[in-house]
Amino acid sequence: MESITFGVLTISDTCCKEPAKDKSGPCLKQLIGESFANAQVIGSIVPDEKDLIQAELRKWINQEDLRVILTTGGTGFAPRDVTPEATKPLLEKECPQLALLITLDSLKKTQFAALSRGLCGIAGNTLILNFPGSEKAVKECFATVRDLLPHALHLIGDQVSLVRQTHAEVQGLAFPTSNHICPHKTGAGSDSDRNSPFPMQPVHEVLSIIFETVQRTSELDRILWQLNSPVNIPPFRASIKDGYAMKSTGFSGSKRVLGCIAAGDELNSSPLAEDECFKINTGAPLPLEADCVVQVEDTRLLQRDKHGQESLVDIMVEPQAGLDVRPVGHDLSTRDRIFPAADPSSVVVKSLLASVGHRLAVPKPRVAIVSTGSELLSPRDQPTPGKIFDSNTTMLAELLLYFGFDCLHTSVLSDSFAQTRESLSDLFEVVDFVICSGGVSMGDKDFVKPVLEDLQFKLHCGRVNMKPGKPMTFASRNEKYFFGLPGNPVSAFVTFHLFALPAIRWAAGWDRQKCSLPVINVKLLNDLSLDGRPEFVRASVISKSGELYASINGDQISSRLQSIVGADVLVNLPARTSDRPTAKAGEVFPASVLRYDFISKYE
Ligand code: AMP
Ligand code: MG
Repeated sequence: MESITFGVLTISDTCCKEPAKDKSGPCLKQLIGESFANAQVIGSIVPDEKDLIQAELRKWINQEDLRVILTTGGTGFAPRDVTPEATKPLLEKECPQLALLITLDSLKKTQFAALSRGLCGIAGNTLILNFPGSEKAVKECFATVRDLLPHALHLIGDQVSLVRQTHAEVQGLAFPTSNHICPHKTGAGSDSDRNSPFPMQPVHEVLSIIFETVQRTSELDRILWQLNSPVNIPPFRASIKDGYAMKSTGFSGSKRVLGCIAAGDELNSSPLAEDECFKINTGAPLPLEADCVVQVEDTRLLQRDKHGQESLVDIMVEPQAGLDVRPVGHDLSTRDRIFPAADPSSVVVKSLLASVGHRLAVPKPRVAIVSTGSELLSPRDQPTPGKIFDSNTTMLAELLLYFGFDCLHTSVLSDSFAQTRESLSDLFEVVDFVICSGGVSMGDKDFVKPVLEDLQFKLHCGRVNMKPGKPMTFASRNEKYFFGLPGNPVSAFVTFHLFALPAIRWAAGWDRQKCSLPVINVKLLNDLSLDGRPEFVRASVISKSGELYASINGDQISSRLQSIVGADVLVNLPARTSDRPTAKAGEVFPASVLRYDFISKYE
């Protein structure tokens, strides 16, 4: 947003006498500074006197660059509370819906909000909002209107291009189209678009927010990547070949075979003469007095004893010191770190720890899966009228396992505020992540977002500009993270891969580059009409002479779980524009790889 000046007017007899008592004015100034880059804020304190309030407001309304006035205080029922009465005569237009929004939001927190009479309106090109006097209330009111302010100011200032730009951004389109969803203009948007208080955020922006919010485990740095090996590998001088161990100071020619040393045998410390040797296996400890091995291919058996054991061999090459011997600690020594670089793949971590005999348990994010919906039946139950089988719990738990994470707990909740609140509150006592499906849309039974707010979670994202998965919700409180995936199974599948998985990998200490699914380029096999939102289309990959093609998996409606059958990739299609309504067969698009065995067919 461009630089704008805000006026913060504290209206209070007390604060006017003792400015140090003014908490709400400074709080608003701070919130403005944190929310709007380059914002200028001027402040003033006046007593609850209509004339004085109006004089200050008039001064600011006439100041060209001052675009927003936030008043705090004087909106209540006490005889001295006259802020709305002072404001009203100065307004050219009232904005009752803005006041209603503030009231509705405040009523969710406390019924005492009904005792505030604050007005909102426009005077000249200045927007004036009356907030109540308490610090808590001004914080809440500011949070309610913050995201609306830039667009409101563009509209007041008749800044047509900026208004269009906002419409386009809200729609996630490069160019504005007739599909306008801002209710003040056409009213053409759907109910959910009109009512959702959440801005539509692009996928990449949501991912950035996730990476900025989720804390990485520092444990890995401390206990794994810094760890020196407790043992040498190999712990003894080991033979690299099957052959004969001997002294290199001797000679080639015939040598007496003193015995056989197999892998797993203890160190042999018998005396060894230059014309003697031991038969030895790969991986066996070299006898104390030997310093080289001559491989069996470079020898010839001359004689066996009466028990059939080898007794004399011909060594056909010159023995060299150290030949075919792995010295102690050659692969890894006690001076070395076990991990030459960070790599939290559980295959890597567990194998390397096993190789040094460590029984360290590697910390992993603790994750629970929750499915919401009063219609859900366990797949083990009998079908019942009005109910459907819950596929998301199984799908999300299996996805976690597939990607190497554990699912600590699963719950299925009905659409009840109280039950959802209680369960989430309990779950966050024991887990770091809750991956929930359902209940994040705009229905009156979608309780997840209100519950999160009630539990003091910060809602970082409530709508993403993508298909499927628009209502994907991400929230956090301290180091607890919540993903609200839409209930439609395919939406849950796609948003798990795009958002929940990267977050869990990030928390587990993965490199940012590696947290998201790998991306390859695929050529479309068929023409496709593009959607108004960027779309993640399930497709099978066919390799034709090494070139990768994407074949779209039938009807892509987000409820049809069949579209994940054979889904190797999610083709990342851009949103439709007036210049480009379709994607053509043969065009190349990036595609996120869903599974390791991602080629379904070779032609
Ligand atoms: P919601 O996101 O709660 O509005 O649900 C959207 C759609 O997904 C509805 O048709 C639900 O019945 C369906 N749905 C929600 N949760 C599940 C689930 N766990 N398994 C299968 N379908 C579900
Ligand atoms: Mg539901």
